[in-house]
Amino acid sequence: MAKTMIPMVNLQDQYLQMKDEIDAAILKTVASTRFIGGPEVEKFEEAFAEYIGVKHLIACANGTDALQLAFMALNLEEGDEVITPSFTYAATAEVLGLLKLTPVFVEVDPVTFNMDPEMMEKSISAKTKAILPVHLYGQCANMERILSIADKYGLDVVEDTAQAVGSSHQFSNGNIKKSGSMGTIGTFSFFPSKNLGCFGDGGAVCTNDDKLAEQLRMLAKHGQKQKYKHEILGCNSRLDSLQAAVLNVKLPYLESYNQSRITAANIYNELLSDIAQIRTPEVLENSTHVYHQYTILCEHGRNELQEKLRNEGVSSVIYYPIPLHKQKAFTSIPHRKGELDNTEIIVDKVLSLPIDSSLKREQQEYICNIIKHYFNS
Ligand SMILES: *Cc1c(COP(=O)(O)O)cnc(C)c1O
Repeated sequence: MAKTMIPMVNLQDQYLQMKDEIDAAILKTVASTRFIGGPEVEKFEEAFAEYIGVKHLIACANGTDALQLAFMALNLEEGDEVITPSFTYAATAEVLGLLKLTPVFVEVDPVTFNMDPEMMEKSISAKTKAILPVHLYGQCANMERILSIADKYGLDVVEDTAQAVGSSHQFSNGNIKKSGSMGTIGTFSFFPSKNLGCFGDGGAVCTNDDKLAEQLRMLAKHGQKQKYKHEILGCNSRLDSLQAAVLNVKLPYLESYNQSRITAANIYNELLSDIAQIRTPEVLENSTHVYHQYTILCEHGRNELQEKLRNEGVSSVIYYPIPLHKQKAFTSIPHRKGELDNTEIIVDKVLSLPIDSSLKREQQEYICNIIKHYFNS
């Protein structure tokens, strides 16, 4: 008997919940024949800037372009070093290689999976120009610590917020800021499975710096401020109007969707709490986690557990099986690697379980019972 799998993320269910609104928005955009730019894109840029709490927000084609635009705008020189984790999606460091910058791979903390600030500081050299933290799996990194190190050494900070839209960090003065709004530039992805996903590719960059904002806007538009006046070499990176229309429908639901993910994560934490062989995710005291992924650490038997789950109709994914410093693509670009012992250990232990806003408690009980049986037999 073919079983229907419990998916990592149920996009079907999410669409059906807002089908009428989405369909209407898409039809309206098609009828307007305004496919590039126009009111939907402008509306989204304004609404999203307000939600994140930043002065300027520029929509672009995807989250990878967002990172590329950010590093183009910073005007770094060939060989300048950028501190970033090895335990992340390839896009993070790929753009550095393409721009002839040197990624310096730094260790992550094995509890939060985010870059270890102490190791980060140790990796700073005379060539270091920027820090590129990734709010991995949805948890905001320790931005107060990262910003104070950046300040001490005069470095820019680009936040890769692809997985963490809506998470935040509370500073010791009480201020709470959303991920992406704290560094020099923040980058976002609206890939369909991200917490705020469109129906294709989409992304954005944001900043509070007026000059950088102007630069970012020009770079995404072939280096022009005025039509047919190209002041710098740029690229073509835009969010199309249909994607903006979808995002305009979905943005108002983001908070409640993130809240449902947090509730589901708490249920997992509770159901998995008495299994000695796994560790459930931990959240820093001053940061929030929006659980783009719910990732457990298995002391042993991770691959066999994944196989068992698959046989019982449960999806799970290893994010990420190979750290960037061990990827073939990165052997060809200059990079430096720090001590990466934790990174090399956790790639063999992590397993992400299904999570999204429509996951049911009964499904989670089913998943957790399989995990319990696996470790207790
Ligand atoms: C998804 C993702 C990206 C890239 O986003 P795209 O929209 O797919 O280009 C970059 N960084 C991280 C950490 C991601 O998860």
